[in-house]
Amino acid sequence: MKASQSFLATLKEAPSDAEVVSHKLMVRAGLIRKLSAGIYNYLPLGLKIIRKVENIIREEMSHAGAIELLMPMIQPAELWQETGRWEKMGPELLRIKDRHDRDFLIQPTSEEVITDLARNEIKSYKQLPVNFYQIQTKFRDERRPRFGIMRGREFSMKDAYSFDRDTEGLKKSYQIMFDAYTRIFKRMGLKFRAVTADNGAIGGSGSQEFHVIADTGEDAIVYCPSSDYAANLEAAESLALIATRSAATQAMTKVPTPDMTNCGDVAKFLNIPLEKTVKSLLFAADQEKEPAKLFMLLVRGDHELNEVKASKIPGMAESRFATEAEIKQACRAPAGYLGPVGVSSDVTVVADRTVANMSDFVCGANDAGHHLTGVNWGRDLPEPLVLDIRNAVVGDPSPDGKGVVDICRGIEVGHVFQLGTRYSEAMGCTYLDQQGKAQPMVMGCYGIGVTRLLGAAIEQGHDEKGIIWPISMAPFEVVICPMGYEKSEPVKAACDQLHDELLAAGIDVILDDRNERPGAMFADWELIGVPFRVVIGDRGLADSQVEFKGRTDAESENIPLAQIKEKVI
Ligand code: ATP
Ligand code: MG
Ligand code: MG
Ligand code: MG
Repeated sequence: MKASQSFLATLKEAPSDAEVVSHKLMVRAGLIRKLSAGIYNYLPLGLKIIRKVENIIREEMSHAGAIELLMPMIQPAELWQETGRWEKMGPELLRIKDRHDRDFLIQPTSEEVITDLARNEIKSYKQLPVNFYQIQTKFRDERRPRFGIMRGREFSMKDAYSFDRDTEGLKKSYQIMFDAYTRIFKRMGLKFRAVTADNGAIGGSGSQEFHVIADTGEDAIVYCPSSDYAANLEAAESLALIATRSAATQAMTKVPTPDMTNCGDVAKFLNIPLEKTVKSLLFAADQEKEPAKLFMLLVRGDHELNEVKASKIPGMAESRFATEAEIKQACRAPAGYLGPVGVSSDVTVVADRTVANMSDFVCGANDAGHHLTGVNWGRDLPEPLVLDIRNAVVGDPSPDGKGVVDICRGIEVGHVFQLGTRYSEAMGCTYLDQQGKAQPMVMGCYGIGVTRLLGAAIEQGHDEKGIIWPISMAPFEVVICPMGYEKSEPVKAACDQLHDELLAAGIDVILDDRNERPGAMFADWELIGVPFRVVIGDRGLADSQVEFKGRTDAESENIPLAQIKEKVI
């Protein structure tokens, strides 16, 4: 590929709405351009990377025996009414009408359509097990699209769906997918962790998420460096894990529903200090996608907390604005901490780091109505509290008895679920077993955030100059930078020849024939993140030498032109 025939669109400045480095660099490197909130154009270079990611996924899916098909982006409401999700899904589901006033939706996922397909096409146990997958555009009207394509509204997902005769079969299919995911993320050169997850709204039993480890990740992971133990903070388990010492973990999972819990009870139940429980719950509240829900956990009937906290907050029985000092004292929040800050059964103190003026903090009387007037939730966890919570949790024994727990942050790039018969029963998706009896198919579903993976890889691979791609994802593997492509015949000839040779050897090479100044040229390729750079100029060529540099090498080295091929293969 010649640069003059491709489309490079690097920028000096990042867009003002970019909060994280991957978003900034994807725009600056000319990979994406925003069209609307959470909706992006993929420029040619961005698309090229997506295709590489898709190829790895396709190879590993095929290796694992999954079969590719494609389901429509626009799906009729009727199927979603059969499973109840048309009513159940909130505003994240984008509903549309056709000219006949019929209801449709843009798929956020495809359980209903694949189950419909399976019930029509699969009749006999002889056709099972089978696993279908697609790589298709999804739409979710996210409450807060952000981080570029990492939390987009339109994004691309690989979604696979397995159908088995029984639960034993499902477990095998699930393990095959789990192993395929492990291979996929390894091939992408990512640091990742598989964590136990909550099943959430999708239903079923048993699920794990794959997280790319990054400080900017939206999720917190409790893990044990000396064992396989790792879990996310979702739902009730999160409270247990974060709040807990080892015995308490098991105890907490016995709490029937998360919202019957209150701090005092949790503390007693887990036999850990109230102070630590409160901190943990605040932390968990901050992690929750719907913080208000967890906040209610904190405020419910919490008499013990009341004694501990309210006595330190003079005059807090009435509704009024709290002062900054009161808020901090109430929660012993570290200096500068402006997250959700404190509660008691009588008093609710709420602050949001996004409000500039401290007088905007609301302190509302919390009689039976738990009202949270004027609350404007901010979800970002300020660093001091993270440290505080780390102190509260890090070093606790783990649940599996093999070490002590630590916390890290992650970006969810994959999710595997054992669905069971939730969808097949709702939709009458059955097969005839060996006795000729109709049985519901036992399903699993398996997602990978194709476009999110680009952002996640950049969060892990970047420096002040730009992106550092793992070679398997890089838009090009090698860039040839001529010193005077137009000016020097020997340089042009050497560059063209190396380009053709590398191409013939199956190496994804680009020759920068734009006649840019060296500084600008090098800066572009470092920003774009090409793993290897070869600089060819007259002076070196006189001794058949060229300059070679790996993207993360401090210095370039002079090597014989003839050695380039073996360096980059
Ligand atoms: P999240 O917790 O980040 O909202 P999710 O649990 O809702 O993700 P799943 O339903 O498990 O997502 O979908 C499978 C995969 O699709 C996720 O693991 C993630 O990698 C990707 N994904 C989900 N939502 C988005 C989004 N808004 N933008 C980009 N990728 C997404
Ligand atoms: Mg989601
Ligand atoms: Mg999730
Ligand atoms: Mg998920």
